[in-house]
Amino acid sequence: MIILVMNAGSSSLKYQLYNMEEESVLATGRVERIGMDASILVHEPAGKQEVNEVSEILDHVTAVRKLIEILTHKEYGVLASIKEINAVGHRVVHGGESFKQSTLVTDDVKKEIRRLFDLAPLHNPPAMMGIAAVEYNLPEVPQVVVFDTAFHQSMPQESFLYPIPMVLYRRHKIRRYGFHGTSHDYVSKQAAITLGKPLESLKLVTCHIGNGASCAAIMNGKSFDTSMGLTPLEGLMMGTRSGDLDPAIVPFTMNKEELTLNEVNSMLNKHSGLQAISGIGSDMREIVEAMDAGDKQAKLAFDMYTYRLRKYIGAYAAGMNGLDAIVFTAGVGENSVAVRKAVCENLTFFGIELDEARNEVRSKEARFISTDDSRVKALVVPTNEELLIARDTYQLVQEER
Ligand code: AMP
Repeated sequence: MIILVMNAGSSSLKYQLYNMEEESVLATGRVERIGMDASILVHEPAGKQEVNEVSEILDHVTAVRKLIEILTHKEYGVLASIKEINAVGHRVVHGGESFKQSTLVTDDVKKEIRRLFDLAPLHNPPAMMGIAAVEYNLPEVPQVVVFDTAFHQSMPQESFLYPIPMVLYRRHKIRRYGFHGTSHDYVSKQAAITLGKPLESLKLVTCHIGNGASCAAIMNGKSFDTSMGLTPLEGLMMGTRSGDLDPAIVPFTMNKEELTLNEVNSMLNKHSGLQAISGIGSDMREIVEAMDAGDKQAKLAFDMYTYRLRKYIGAYAAGMNGLDAIVFTAGVGENSVAVRKAVCENLTFFGIELDEARNEVRSKEARFISTDDSRVKALVVPTNEELLIARDTYQLVQEER
């Protein structure tokens, strides 16, 4: 079965084409600058040369048409005919309380995703454009939606409610949802395989630390708590997002600096985190490089970042009353030797013993970075959200047949 995985943004569309019999990737690519001049299509067919095409792509319908053309292109294509695509799986950011798992796209599902636009005004509308564009270009092909929030729907009330008037939850569904669910789900399953234990028997803290960052407490294979909340702003310090802070800072800053709501929102989402403290940027590579060269602000940013992450790991171990392993994933988690070292070295009282040589190894496979004797294990597990979307899509379409 051939499955196309799509991740549609407001001006971009990323894709990956899977052959599910072997779970192999046939092609990957992206369309950027949709609706702007000089749109770019980057197509990477497996085992062939990468193709870059600049043209005018005014909307998502045209982007999907271009994508179909390139997938079936005589020279750069990987399919003989577009009829070979059996299903399309979409990443959708917000599933609210309505979607606790991935689901086939129906009229009711689309209606519900639209109803949730309020909760993710920047992310859900482009995902719907992606679904509509596939519907237009491939009307016969079943579609599946996989939500970033769905995995965290297992959180109990004590984790997901805010201690604010209940009426706000009842009227507006203001609560914690959590994000990166597909990644936390995927890496927790992979971690259980690496640990050689049933997922249902494990207490894990998964740290998805990339540009956006969140960690999750996963107990018995289910999300028990996670650091992002109503929006992806809550929780860990991130590249440009503040993460947790005293909410009173918002009115205080608005008053002192005469800022509008939009300006404060932009400050907390785009001009905070590593970038604000280091004064260098949001990329952990640059921060570590500057820190190693003696830059004090870079060191402060690094220390704040790793300290806040350690606090969450500690809180989640307490929340679950135990911990079997911590799992690092995403850009920083998979690559930053320094971040993993700073986190693990300061959690020795928990029973985490870092193996420095293992921590230095680069690999695309899941692996231990703790010693064999470490009571609590530490692992690096490369995330693969696209594969999980493809697997969910495959399963749902099989069930439907
Ligand atoms: P992601 O959002 O998962 O793609 O992660 C992107 C982030 O990963 C970048 O902004 C970098 O901060 C970080 N990153 C990627 N490679 C490295 C590396 N070798 N060392 C430290 N951080 C890295």
